[in-house]
Amino acid sequence: MCDHGRLIVRVGVVSLALALAAAGCRSGKSISMGFSAGGAGNGGLDTAALRSDESSGVGGDKAGGPLFRFGLIADCQYHKEPGTGRKYSLSDRKLAECVNDFNSRDLAFVCHLGDFIDRDFESFDVVGPIFDRLQAKTYHVIGNHDYSVVDERKAEVPAVLGLDKTYYDFAVQGIRFVVLDGTDVSFHPYAEGTPEKQAAKRYYDDNNIQLPTWNGALGDAQLAWLKRALAGAQERGERVILFCHFPAFPENIHNLWNAEAVMNLIEPYDCVIAYINGHNHHGNYGRRAGIHYVTLKAMVDTETNSYAVVDVFDDRLEVAGFGRESRRVLPFR
Ligand SMILES: [Zn+2]
Repeated sequence: MCDHGRLIVRVGVVSLALALAAAGCRSGKSISMGFSAGGAGNGGLDTAALRSDESSGVGGDKAGGPLFRFGLIADCQYHKEPGTGRKYSLSDRKLAECVNDFNSRDLAFVCHLGDFIDRDFESFDVVGPIFDRLQAKTYHVIGNHDYSVVDERKAEVPAVLGLDKTYYDFAVQGIRFVVLDGTDVSFHPYAEGTPEKQAAKRYYDDNNIQLPTWNGALGDAQLAWLKRALAGAQERGERVILFCHFPAFPENIHNLWNAEAVMNLIEPYDCVIAYINGHNHHGNYGRRAGIHYVTLKAMVDTETNSYAVVDVFDDRLEVAGFGRESRRVLPFR
């Protein structure tokens, strides 16, 4: 990061410290879970496994705590049917637990990283109102399963998730969050017989894609937009965190069809800190060219919940994992 950027970050620390002091400061609050939900007789959710790491709590850091923090959820993937493996029908309850926990914290925003539902448009009616109880600002990344609705309703999906555009960006205290749409070129958003569906089939065949049909790619217009977004961030001295539903790295069958092209595009921009995604329910981690690639575990898979709170410091991210999710410290390059 250039000196200009560091200055912005430092000014941010001072401003935040002053704001917290003026507000009576919740910075002594522990990040430990401290809530009781689920458990025997209450749906059987295994909350005993919920945990966090005290060291990532505000006030525990020698630099005086994080600049800000945000919440992340991957693959809530709700459906009313219980499922034989994944616990689709428990996701509304796990999401509610997560929302209650997030509402007890000072979060700059909460982002769901795609596959909010497993299938059927009506599923949005169950989990949408729960997510809307979040007091923090909220964002959605679009995932393949979000389009697992009847053809006639596919076009309504972005709007039901509150999205005017399926790829977009926003900034918080010198960090630019760039949200990507990995279903851009894919089989998911488009009804049978449409030119877009035909184009996706051509793309898949012409590029001899070996990855599954349930992934997708960023199209040319989105790649050009991403390049402009990164150039703008670099010029303003901002750091960048990318969100996408699909992973790009390490190599994995869940990855974007054009993961290599996306990585080649972002790597020259040393403002990029991390690329965070869902879709691979097991979670994953890798680092390439200084960029952290973090796959968060899915909320849906087991009776144990899974979500994360990310603390943003001026030299690192600290990911506090809850339930199945891991704790990670991600230093900036
Ligand atoms: Zn997915």
